[in-house]
Amino acid sequence: MKKETVDTINKLLESPKRIVVVGHKNPDGDAIGSCLGLSFFLKQRGHEVQVIMPNDFPEFLKWLPGCNTLYTYDKDAGKVKQSIAKAELIFTLDFNALNRTGDLAQVLEKATADFVMIDHHQQPDNYAVATYSDVTMSSTAQMVFHFIEALNGENEITSEIATNLYTGIMTDTGSFRFPATTAITHKVIATLINCGANNTEIHQNIYDTNSHNRLKLLGVALNNLEILPEYRTAYISISQEDLDSSHFRKGDTEGFVNYALSVKGVIFALIFIENKQENITKISFRSKGDFSVNEFARAHYNGGGHTNAAGGRSDHSLTDTINEFITILPLYKNALVNAS
Ligand code: 5GP
Ligand code: MN
Repeated sequence: MKKETVDTINKLLESPKRIVVVGHKNPDGDAIGSCLGLSFFLKQRGHEVQVIMPNDFPEFLKWLPGCNTLYTYDKDAGKVKQSIAKAELIFTLDFNALNRTGDLAQVLEKATADFVMIDHHQQPDNYAVATYSDVTMSSTAQMVFHFIEALNGENEITSEIATNLYTGIMTDTGSFRFPATTAITHKVIATLINCGANNTEIHQNIYDTNSHNRLKLLGVALNNLEILPEYRTAYISISQEDLDSSHFRKGDTEGFVNYALSVKGVIFALIFIENKQENITKISFRSKGDFSVNEFARAHYNGGGHTNAAGGRSDHSLTDTINEFITILPLYKNALVNAS
């Protein structure tokens, strides 16, 4: 962290403050883990803290310490608006543009509180009085750890904080294997284990709680896998009918796209998921090496993220979205064939 950012934050936190900590829409393990981890730390330092998410989060995260104290905007709009109106400071974690919070963005834009951003995505917006942005970081949860270090709080890391931060790092690094996982990430993890994060329990809680329905949906997804070897590309599609017939629950498709990326020779993988309620097709992009899915998602799908993991959406039907994608792909043939 830059010294001037640390100085600004130290000044903001000099006296007890009413603080809101916000994550992005469709929160994942890193959004929830980093927000809850930070909120425990700030509470211990004497601040009044409320964690807020735009909408609900997957069942497989509903054991995280503190997760039953957070408000979701789509369920508790009144409480959320009140917390934001009263807040003196708003931390935004794991996103860098307010529109990543969906409808909640309108409430945040009207807030009078100062903003602090902690995030590892590319191309941050400029809305915060203190911006801690680092695109080389494995996860926002790792950044919260460095934030705590910078505030000389390492000795204040409880098992609740450690468990939340471990979960954020683990889920965003694909269990410590994506390229942003460094020796420092592993040192942070070692410290978190020393502070009470139970690695086996966390892995089991996240990865070994499949429902039969989710595994059936995975079967459908794998059946729908298409491989385009000339583009080193593979994609999976899931229709609303597929979701309905397997009684889809939030989070059930998490990680499916990695099966497409695991095909030998494939460096670009996508999953298209139909959402009839919102009238969109949600897309997740993954890549290996220097082919930037952040650029691809920004250019065509109103999305973004990281070089190797991004998201976006199309307003067209599943079939039309895929057909359109097939026409866009040749524009990237050189980039895909020559990517390293
Ligand atoms: P996922 O595919 O798992 O939803 O998201 C992959 C990564 O891209 C995550 O880091 C996520 O925060 C980011 N991401 C997902 N959807 C969007 C989007 O619509 N816009 C931007 N800027 N980032 C996104
Ligand atoms: Mn993240």
